[in-house]
Amino acid sequence: MARVIFQNVTKLYGGNPTPAVADLSMEVEDQEFLVLVGPSGCGKSTAMRMVAGLEEISGGQIIIGDRVVNDLPPKDRDVAMVFQSYALYPHMSVYDNLAYPLKLRKVPKTERDQRVREAARTLDIEQFLDRKPKALSGGQRQRVALGRAIVRNADVFLMDEPLSNLDAKLRVQTRAELIKLHERVNTTTIYVTHDQVEAMTMGDRIAVMSLGILQQLDTPQNLYDHPANKFVAGFIGSPSMNFVEVALTAQDGKIHATTEGFAVLAPAHKEKALAQYIGQTITMGVRPEHLVEVSRLGGHVKGTTIPVTVDIVEQLGNENFVYLLNRPNGRRGGTEEIKLTEYEAESMSRTGSTLLTARMAPDVRLIRGDRIEVGAAPENLHFFDPQTEAAIR
Ligand code: ADP
Ligand code: MG
Repeated sequence: MARVIFQNVTKLYGGNPTPAVADLSMEVEDQEFLVLVGPSGCGKSTAMRMVAGLEEISGGQIIIGDRVVNDLPPKDRDVAMVFQSYALYPHMSVYDNLAYPLKLRKVPKTERDQRVREAARTLDIEQFLDRKPKALSGGQRQRVALGRAIVRNADVFLMDEPLSNLDAKLRVQTRAELIKLHERVNTTTIYVTHDQVEAMTMGDRIAVMSLGILQQLDTPQNLYDHPANKFVAGFIGSPSMNFVEVALTAQDGKIHATTEGFAVLAPAHKEKALAQYIGQTITMGVRPEHLVEVSRLGGHVKGTTIPVTVDIVEQLGNENFVYLLNRPNGRRGGTEEIKLTEYEAESMSRTGSTLLTARMAPDVRLIRGDRIEVGAAPENLHFFDPQTEAAIR
């Protein structure tokens, strides 16, 4: 068992002036399951490969347990890595595939046998030990690949998108198995994925990266509730958080966020932080699930609602995604007038003109062209600095 510490770790690939990983500092605690998540190309695999020793470190230090491993060859690092493309030896049985890493390390035969059988039991692949990989399903093969990491009794598991070759259903199932496996073996694990749902469901903590830079390291719930910046806010959650450019104005001692179509009241607990932005345009964020049709809000949100026109309703059965267009010229009621204004008709014919996406219960019956008002509780509004994109809080 071991912790893994990144101290100002930087990776520059030859010829490229922009680091693939820039000044990364974080600590993965002993026995923790930490997920490294971010879009393709943000430096996740590079970070993993530096821990494994497969890639030289350009700057900073990586510590595993109590040892600085910068100059330690991969075989002396006690880490086991599972990749997306798990190469099993096709001509070897499952048993031999599992035993091979131990053979390489000159583990005596009886101990080898014991460890292979133990790993097979842990992963529930005992019944396949005599088969060749081609006689296994994708999920079973992936378990054998995991088994090859487990038999080594490594201090640290590094998993780089290990489930991405599996179909959606098997991925969800294997995800759950991996979590159970971690509860049993408790090996410190760094798990890489580009999928924020996978990250949210698996991680004790999640490190969000973008462009080689660590954006936030936190628990899943804190990332969702208190994103540190606009990138994290938009990356975590599906559909994504809505962003609207708003002008901050002060009226009667209260701060309002206004744009052409609406004015909403800023939450009281953020007034102090927002005060320095009065007179400026900043970004407001609200999650689709926090947008409520006003008739359901209970009437206490006067002046904080947004008049919109329903553009598209996507029905998922258990919920609907409702795409809403801005209605700049006002608060005409929903039923009195069905004909669309020219603005609405034009907005609807354009793509990408959606103002907001809402996530609503299927019993909220809405159709294209409906004019409604939506609102959000003030505590569910997020605000971001227009320059740094850091959360204002
Ligand atoms: P991720 O795993 O998050 O998709 P990578 O760590 O693979 O990202 O890549 C990070 C950046 O480093 C990318 O811009 C990629 O093109 C670059 N990169 C990765 N490997 C190499 C390499 N061997 N040589 C040069 N550039 C590389
Ligand atoms: Mg990668």
